[in-house]
Amino acid sequence: MCTILRVRWTLTPLAAPRPWLACSGCGVPRAFETTGKIRLNANGRKLDAWLIYACTSCEKTWNRPIFERQPLRAIEPSLLARLQANDPELARAESFNLDALRRKALRIEEYADVAIDKQVVDEMPRWTRIEIAMVAPHPVDLRLDRLLARELPLSRSGLPELERQGRLRIAPSRGGALRRRIGQGLVVILDIADAVERGGLWRAAAAGASP
Ligand SMILES: [Zn+2]
Repeated sequence: MCTILRVRWTLTPLAAPRPWLACSGCGVPRAFETTGKIRLNANGRKLDAWLIYACTSCEKTWNRPIFERQPLRAIEPSLLARLQANDPELARAESFNLDALRRKALRIEEYADVAIDKQVVDEMPRWTRIEIAMVAPHPVDLRLDRLLARELPLSRSGLPELERQGRLRIAPSRGGALRRRIGQGLVVILDIADAVERGGLWRAAAAGASP
């Protein structure tokens, strides 16, 4: 019977995506950054809500619609309160809304830099298998193989061979998962039975430095 170390990695991008837009201040396409500010505009009984971006070169602002021309009565009161309070969590979540950005931007610059919070969920004695559940509240522009090679004592080039041998499994299983960006709910299972003498190293890598 195999025993498992179960961990959870919460991945948080260090910066929000930057849309490139034709800047009317600069006269050329520029990268825009979120200001974290939400603006509301009432139009009779209808409401617009925007997340405000600024050109990284001239600071000209751009309003990215969160919604436009919504009948006031159709807006959930709790959402309205958060918009009015410029709720930082809501502004942050909206700044990672790639679908909304794609509808407006020429292109989108994303950052691969993520902070990783590692938590032990369950640890059986003398485990020989590590199960890593990925939690990604915001989209992360990072390939799975890069993350694993960066965080674990493994080489990126050796990962496909481990997968072929069945010592590395990825769920949900879909072709080329190693080369795809990490999605919410991805689970990685690693069999390290023949690396048990390096267990301490693996534990530190998988579960963070805490004992
Ligand atoms: Zn500009």
